[in-house]
Amino acid sequence: MLQPLFADRICAVVAAPTAAGMLRQLARALKRARTVELRLDWLRSRQEIFRLLAALARRRLRTTWIATCRRRVAGGRFAGSPAVQLELLRRAVAAGCRWCDVEIETAAQLGAADLRRRLAPARCLISFHDFAGTPPRLTALCARLDRAGGHAIKLAARCDRLRDGLRQLALARHRRRVVAVPMGERALPLRVLALREGSALAYAAVGEATAPGQLTLEEMRQLYRADRLDRHTRVYGVIGDPVVHSLSPLLHNTGFRVRRINAVYLPFRVPADAGRASLRDFLAAVPALNLRGFSVTIPHKERILDYLDGCDPLAEQIGAVNTVVVRGPGWLYGYNTDYVGVLRALDSRSVGLAGCRVLIYGAGGAARAVAFALARAGARVAICARRLEPARRLARAVGGEVIPRPRLAREFFDAIVNATPVGMHPRVRESPLAVHELNCRIVFDLIYRPMRTKLLQMAARRGIEAISGVEMFVAQGVAQWEIWMGERAPEGRMREAVLAALRREQNR
Ligand code: NAP
Repeated sequence: MLQPLFADRICAVVAAPTAAGMLRQLARALKRARTVELRLDWLRSRQEIFRLLAALARRRLRTTWIATCRRRVAGGRFAGSPAVQLELLRRAVAAGCRWCDVEIETAAQLGAADLRRRLAPARCLISFHDFAGTPPRLTALCARLDRAGGHAIKLAARCDRLRDGLRQLALARHRRRVVAVPMGERALPLRVLALREGSALAYAAVGEATAPGQLTLEEMRQLYRADRLDRHTRVYGVIGDPVVHSLSPLLHNTGFRVRRINAVYLPFRVPADAGRASLRDFLAAVPALNLRGFSVTIPHKERILDYLDGCDPLAEQIGAVNTVVVRGPGWLYGYNTDYVGVLRALDSRSVGLAGCRVLIYGAGGAARAVAFALARAGARVAICARRLEPARRLARAVGGEVIPRPRLAREFFDAIVNATPVGMHPRVRESPLAVHELNCRIVFDLIYRPMRTKLLQMAARRGIEAISGVEMFVAQGVAQWEIWMGERAPEGRMREAVLAALRREQNR
């Protein structure tokens, strides 16, 4: 078997304006990584660079350091000439850096032989960056990078479509000595999967991210366990927008870790667009990603139905799907576990539903699951939404009534359920309803992040029982996990992980 280029393929990126800041980050990086990139171009002056290199030269660590002094022309911060850049890299090599990352713009100017000679004994990673998009002809691009005479090549290009990111990963699969770095928020799952495809490295931030979509070292190592993924790893994910702050990856990956299952769960940002191009781009990538299943969240729960090959009768009746199983190549089957989630959440608080009058605010995918669950449990359902037509449709489907917003102040309900994203992280100061509209015994906010939303705080101040969406979140996620895995989920550990993350956030 061939030796990997780097013993540790997760590379911690250390980047700060001062040497002291870099050294602090380095200390943090060394707890979790044995390959570290030093972004010399982030240091604010040459004195700071010299200070850092002097401190490094005094250390004898068994870490692979990669020195980078990226020029502005390639998206870095270094404003000097290629000659000065090379001189600084040479000093970094003298201080112990075993690799230098040199952008193609500089490498092409110097020539292959000269570059290798001047940076020896360090090895050269010849890199290409495109922050606007993925170039059309990657094979020709790689040939150009090869000619620059380095020991490995790196391609870092933005991808706004998964299709483009997959082309980058295909390079890593078919070539040796390649680092593939798909950039941008939509490429986040591909950054994790790059290692599985054979990329020699994946970068992770210790401080501020140095490239769009870069994950933190902790996320890469602990949450996604990117360096442990292999060709047998089963891939799952969540599609939605926003999705980057979702705790579903933590919930599901905790389950995989506890049960020692070779699987990973990743967030795929799929924005809503009129032509549904993003959703189609994701669905087209399902076979190439070897995706076995995915969760569906805001705003795709209803529209995903148009792309399914089959559906659980209850989900079909609800008209919303939050769980998809990939049963064969391109064969998608949908379920709705929000339905179970809402009943379990209310059950856990001993909320009796039969005969109760419940208002649901919102008429989207989650509202539909809640309305069906409550109606079947014997509650009288009322719907209020900013658009009348979806509210009417949902009320008709569950035999409920529509309440126009101005009437809320004059009505009384046993419970009010918020099924809109208003108040969700990061817009935590917003509330979907005003205080005088909360005439009820219980307020149930489907939002779980934050745990205590503005709406719940307002309710508690009025002496109303406040229920967070977190119990429903755990219950619907556990049901998904069990559908995909076909075994009991370690529910307690999964809940613990989510609650701990939410508490940490609350105390920040
Ligand atoms: P969705 O299908 O996109 O529906 C969102 C609903 O909220 C729609 O009726 C939408 O109205 C309405 N809405 C959006 N912005 C609004 C605003 N500014 N003012 C008033 N109404 C607004 O989303 P979803 O999947 O149902 O999710 C809704 C919320 O429930 C999200 O916050 C989600 O995180 C949460 N949820 C939680 C759980 C859990 O397990 N705890 C499970 C599912 C969902 P328009 O149609 O007019 O846009």
